[in-house]
Amino acid sequence: MENVAESDPMMAMDLLTRYERSVNPGLARVFRFMGLESAEATGDGALLIDENGTEYIDLAGGYGVMVHGYRHPRLLQAAHRQLEKLAQSSRVLLNRPMVELAEELQQVTPGDLTYSFFCNSGAEAVEAALKLARAATGRSEWISTVGAFHGKTMGALTVSGRDTYRDPFQPLVPGVTHVSYGDASAVRRALHSQVAAVIVEPIQGEGGIIVPPDNYLAEVREACDQTGTLLIVDEVQTGMGRTGRLFAIEHSGVVPDFLCLAKALGGGIMPIGAVVGRPSAWDIFSVQPLIHTSTFGGAPLAAAVALEAIRVTIEERLPERAEMLGNIARRRLDQMQARYPGVIREVRGMGLMLGLEFANAGVAGALMAELFQRHILAVYTLNNDRVIRLIPPLVITEDQLDTALTEMEAAMAAVDQYLDELGE
Ligand code: PLP
Repeated sequence: MENVAESDPMMAMDLLTRYERSVNPGLARVFRFMGLESAEATGDGALLIDENGTEYIDLAGGYGVMVHGYRHPRLLQAAHRQLEKLAQSSRVLLNRPMVELAEELQQVTPGDLTYSFFCNSGAEAVEAALKLARAATGRSEWISTVGAFHGKTMGALTVSGRDTYRDPFQPLVPGVTHVSYGDASAVRRALHSQVAAVIVEPIQGEGGIIVPPDNYLAEVREACDQTGTLLIVDEVQTGMGRTGRLFAIEHSGVVPDFLCLAKALGGGIMPIGAVVGRPSAWDIFSVQPLIHTSTFGGAPLAAAVALEAIRVTIEERLPERAEMLGNIARRRLDQMQARYPGVIREVRGMGLMLGLEFANAGVAGALMAELFQRHILAVYTLNNDRVIRLIPPLVITEDQLDTALTEMEAAMAAVDQYLDELGE
């Protein structure tokens, strides 16, 4: 047989070097530094398996995509069934899976959230909501929060809260004010008659898993109502059961004007994003039906999988599972924090959306590398590199969670020892 490496010199090179030469040289250096050199091959539930057959327990959950785990059988079946029929839409005739998905969202989202716009990512869902809020109100400004993460397209980036990602692209969209997260009075002070919308995450994900005070969202809702401002709730990361409810906003009883979804809506199989809006926020489509569109948005394959993903979430009681497993994890993590206060400063979160705050990014990075050596995957939050987030698939077994937490404790002991040796 022909030796592939001899006939194709590219194949002889390791994949990370090829990635460095063809995708992102800077990120390749980070992967190399962290010892992340193997390539993913397949997955099963909460396990990710690399090309060498090494199994990792995935606490990073594809940054929130893998609520249902890797290759959920019902979701694979839904994908295969639809793939055989029609993957993409003609966009001329009606698309049945898309309508069925929209009807399901109408049923399962709070209050009178009625209409859906479909796209392909979280940032696109946020862009759509920001634009629709302007159209619905005839106003041009938005309020967001410090530390927020809403995506990296121009509008979504403008309402995001980390200067490192924003500065190279200035000037961004004008008319955006950032107020501190969790402080409803700061929103109230910033509101005025030209603000189209306030955009907020029910729990800040990339900001470092920040849970706001109990009545925060209700007070923001009330403040918006007083000035005729719309409320956009971004559940791209918190949605689909992660916090113990299908949508995190349900903990507050608040009905937003727009609910943004993506990530786990696609069941870990398809990319799909959605904005679900109240009737009053949708008037523009009655006048100009094509005012905001997406060629791939709501394609039959993605929509069929998303519909099944919602059904699986409800029928397998994944929100309840998030709450139950979250309580177990939280207890163990609190014990670790009490034991290694020099390593871990705080544990916080809700359901299976937990954050561990470390003294600095170096300690967080050392723990991530230790965990990787132990075949546990966990990652930083993008806007706060002192925080490692634990957002595993909600289908993780109790045994897998127990193993991951035991390895976490061993990793913390190792990091604690380094810090001792460094005299920190
Ligand atoms: N909104 C939130 C709350 C997110 O966490 C993210 C991504 O992490 C986004 C929006 C952007 O989603 P995407 O990367 O699919 O554009």
